[in-house]
Amino acid sequence: MAIHKTGTLWVVATPIGNLEDLSPRAQRVLREVTLIAAEDTRHSKPLLAHFGIGTPLSALHEHNEREAIAPLLARLRAGEDIALISDAGTPLISDPGYRLVRAARENGIRVGTAPGPCAAVAALSIAGLPSDRFVFEGFLPPKAPARRARLRELAHESRTLVLYESSHRIRECCEDLREIFGAQREARLLRELTKLHETVLGETLGEIAARMANDADQHRGEFVLVIASAGEEVDDKIAEGRRVYALLREELPPAQAAKLASAISGAPRKALYGE
Ligand code: SAM
Repeated sequence: MAIHKTGTLWVVATPIGNLEDLSPRAQRVLREVTLIAAEDTRHSKPLLAHFGIGTPLSALHEHNEREAIAPLLARLRAGEDIALISDAGTPLISDPGYRLVRAARENGIRVGTAPGPCAAVAALSIAGLPSDRFVFEGFLPPKAPARRARLRELAHESRTLVLYESSHRIRECCEDLREIFGAQREARLLRELTKLHETVLGETLGEIAARMANDADQHRGEFVLVIASAGEEVDDKIAEGRRVYALLREELPPAQAAKLASAISGAPRKALYGE
């Protein structure tokens, strides 16, 4: 009796700017699968054409991921191999694909990786900041009050912080970081990685914010921020107190927020007030 074999869902990383970064293995996988699910088929066509890859494409993006999953699973179950790519870098990293990968796993379908470029890892690897422990926060909330609240929560993080930011908000984001984390905090702003205008700005948030305020050329392109840790090991109670304080501070005056946060978390009020 023939044993029916399901296909493999290949998660394939594509370049973040330099076409030479599409690995030979990624090229082979993209050539051999029967379908490529792409975030934006128009965006991916030139990349595939450059490598002479003629595999058919279907769209899988933020707005259709739920509906797109069932037909892809049916084809995988029938034994076809399918690749998932995003516009740039590693799918699922601030990109669509999580629901599809999860559904494939839940359905007993093999999920394989053809790993490669990821802007967060590329940035961390050249920033020259501690890389043994880091936290990736992706994009901050787009609206200023929510972004500032998130930054207050992150201000005491004891690991290196990696953020993505768009060109529309990079300047205001750098200003908020300088204000909330302090101008002296060590950081790097990495722009246009692997591209012609690759730039690394640093050494501190103060310098980065000043450069962004004075040089409009630096607002163009794609950005990763790598920010050094707060350099303090805080105990769990204080960490929780600061988290609660940051949330309450959105609605209440500082003294009242600190009093409540202290009562909720058990952290001393003076460790929270004035944050
Ligand atoms: N999946 C991608 C990855 O693996 O890095 C990230 C996709 S996310 C929608 C796009 C964001 O990644 C950009 O806004 C920017 O923050 C960052 N990014 C992508 N390419 C970049 C590059 N060449 N230089 C700097 N940042 C980049």
